[in-house]
Amino acid sequence: MDMLFHATSAAFLGRILGERRPGWLCLAAVIGVIPDLVSNVVCITSYQLAHSLALQLPIVLILLLLNWRIAFGGLLHVVLDIPTHQYATTHLFYPFAKWDLPIGIAWYEGLGFLTWGLLWITLAALILLYGMDQKARKLCKIKAPEERACPSPYSPRAD
Ligand SMILES: [Zn+2]
Repeated sequence: MDMLFHATSAAFLGRILGERRPGWLCLAAVIGVIPDLVSNVVCITSYQLAHSLALQLPIVLILLLLNWRIAFGGLLHVVLDIPTHQYATTHLFYPFAKWDLPIGIAWYEGLGFLTWGLLWITLAALILLYGMDQKARKLCKIKAPEERACPSPYSPRAD
């Protein structure tokens, strides 16, 4: 997918996981695009390494210690690239193994462009629904905070 999608989806994932602070959400967005930033700046070998689970998993482990809510942006990037790039599986386990599974289509051409559009529409709809849910919960707490009228499947952060 494109870099804006990776940034948006990583920040949204951080938000869903409970992070509300704008600075941390911006960092989540940056973490989401790091694989493409690194590979576009350095070289093709860095592309393979930056999009490999062999690099992403240690990064996730380090970020879990820093702020677990923003730790999964790079991993989400690699997973999202599998169906939206024709060659993503070849470097999934780089440098330990090389797969060449015929899954995924290039998001930037032909039917892949349709996939790109559908993924953007899906992400926008999820963000909109999440925003509406948050607003409804906020209104519900204002109207009846003592009655627990709005049961939540997750606990909001108390910042
Ligand atoms: Zn990528």
